[in-house]
Amino acid sequence: MNAVIKKEMLSENVVRMVLEAPAIAKKRKAGQFILLKVDEKGEKIPLTIVDSDAQQGTITIIFQVVGKTTTMLADKKKGEFIHDLQGPLGNPTEIEHFGHVVCIGGGVGVGVVYPIAVALKAAGNRVTSIIGARTKELLILEEEMKKVSDHLVVATDDGSYGFHGFVSAVLQDMLDRKEKIDRVYAVGPVPMMRVLCDVTRAHGIKTIVSLNSLMLDASGMCGACRVSVGGKTKFTCVDGPEFDGHEVDFAILANRLRMYSQQERQSLEMYRCACHG
Ligand SMILES: Cc1cc2nc3c(=O)[nH]c(=O)nc-3n(C[C@H](O)[C@H](O)[C@H](O)COP(=O)(O)OP(=O)(O)OC[C@H]3O[C@@H](n4cnc5c(N)ncnc54)[C@H](O)[C@@H]3O)c2cc1C
Repeated sequence: MNAVIKKEMLSENVVRMVLEAPAIAKKRKAGQFILLKVDEKGEKIPLTIVDSDAQQGTITIIFQVVGKTTTMLADKKKGEFIHDLQGPLGNPTEIEHFGHVVCIGGGVGVGVVYPIAVALKAAGNRVTSIIGARTKELLILEEEMKKVSDHLVVATDDGSYGFHGFVSAVLQDMLDRKEKIDRVYAVGPVPMMRVLCDVTRAHGIKTIVSLNSLMLDASGMCGACRVSVGGKTKFTCVDGPEFDGHEVDFAILANRLRMYSQQERQSLEMYRCACHG
């Protein structure tokens, strides 16, 4: 059992939660995730470890409320308990001094790219970050990203804040201005990552994406999180979650993410009915 130490809303349906998890806090690295089970009978869901405090014995997660389990998690209050957490899981981000790196996050993906930006900055890289959201109200972690970046650009789809347009247009503009970029990290919705990879492919810039595949047990046994990378089957849980974006088959990933949408909708409706009578 892990206590909820702190909970706050970052936007309409994105929650930041600090959880008691001393063993995980001691050894987690950027890019890793936990598998979390809200109650005894519930499913396990993967969530990125956004931050940790080894002294306090806590980790921070940021999640978007999209279905039954994230709704149950968001319903937890400070002082209540999560049934169990497993982690840290997945391969840590490969962190080196690459030179000029661009960290790009869209929507809740900003929470996933944040620890990567922190680690890249600590390794001496020049970090440019581009963060985006549909509207100003949905933008998260602007202050945090600013602190770990040499330069931060904000973009909103509707132009309500910062650059009016997609994060990919901001990157394209940097490349048109002949800015030297040594590596790109991109985390967000599948269409966003796919477009960013198309932009960087034309310039031969290595681009790392963190994939949000459906996942069951994160042991490499069940194959639920399989993705096609460079024509080979890989498991996001043990081979990822980060991959060379130029090799990822995003069409297969998008199809697999939609595989259970009807059942996921029903499951959320049943949970809501059970809660509200
Ligand atoms: C390694 C890894 C790290 C992740 N880190 C984070 C994180 O830090 N924060 C965060 O908010 N989410 C993260 N995710 C995605 C998160 O695990 C899912 O959103 C969650 O499992 C949904 O559970 P649910 O029961 O609430 O929704 P479900 O009932 O499973 O799904 C409801 C609807 O949400 C959408 N959905 C479900 N799963 C996903 C998914 N994996 N990706 C995109 N859309 C999905 C679909 O539209 C679906 O119909 C991560 C996924 C992976 C694999």
